[in-house]
Amino acid sequence: MRSDIPDPRRQDAISWPKPDPSLAPGLYIVSTPIGNLRDITFRALDVLAGADLILAEDTRITRRLLETYGVTTTMRAYHDHNAAEIRPEIIAQLEGGARIAQVSDAGTPLVSDPGFKLARDAIDAGIGVIPIPGASAALAGLAAAGLPTDAFLFAGFTPPKSGKRAAFFETFARVPATLIFYESGPRLADSLAAMADVFGPRPAAVARELTKRFEETVRGDLPDLAARYAESGAPKGEIVVLVGPPSEAEAEWDDARIDTALKEAMEADSVKDAAAAVAKASGLPRRDLYQRALALKSRA
Ligand code: SAM
Repeated sequence: MRSDIPDPRRQDAISWPKPDPSLAPGLYIVSTPIGNLRDITFRALDVLAGADLILAEDTRITRRLLETYGVTTTMRAYHDHNAAEIRPEIIAQLEGGARIAQVSDAGTPLVSDPGFKLARDAIDAGIGVIPIPGASAALAGLAAAGLPTDAFLFAGFTPPKSGKRAAFFETFARVPATLIFYESGPRLADSLAAMADVFGPRPAAVARELTKRFEETVRGDLPDLAARYAESGAPKGEIVVLVGPPSEAEAEWDDARIDTALKEAMEADSVKDAAAAVAKASGLPRRDLYQRALALKSRA
């Protein structure tokens, strides 16, 4: 066995927290649990206990985690409402050699959470930015979904306004990857219906309350899932929606092939019927094809 790797059977290797007196100066981006407080790494606890300061999105939420593990490091709130104002001060502290840990309420900071601008400013100032990896709802959902994992795209929260949703989903319609969205219970049914409109009957999963008591993952195609949640009403808790990639048949339809098919169909049919015919042949969303056919016609 290599001597520089601690033997995991040794008691001191599994005790925590083990504040590291040699913790290097820098900004530590520390992942925390997404529900189950045991989903914290030994290294995250080492850093939280050894840092000079913890920046927390909501100090009340992070206090619960710190108290669970006996970490007493000073906290300061860092959230969307004060970030711009206090960022220069934090950068100055880091330039002075401070070891600062940043956490969000749950999961990995910067992922649909504050922290990106702080990390970017720290990098610009030549300060070390060190990730301390751990839980994230996006990856936990992917692990449970049963959808392809070779390529995936995290798209963050879906737009709250229904008018913006279709256009948002259309941006991702041709991406050859499993799509990952954050969603809320009250919006779930409408959002799934809009996804079914744009993506068609692709396989999908709704992963809810991951790592918590009422954890569940419901799998099915998008129209079935949309119907299920329209009927059952808004589920409680936190939700990740995952949508499988386009089928091989869909992927074979590149822009040139679509345009040729639409033009040919429009020689005999109306724009609407041409879009419907190409949607049937390709499996692509009719709404997209209709817009594309209109654009082709106006250019002709
Ligand atoms: N930074 C976090 C991460 O790495 O997952 C995400 C923060 S974002 C503000 C919160 C959203 O993540 C929730 O609205 C929900 O969509 C998703 N989420 C967080 N915890 C979850 C859980 N336990 N189960 C399912 N989704 C969760």
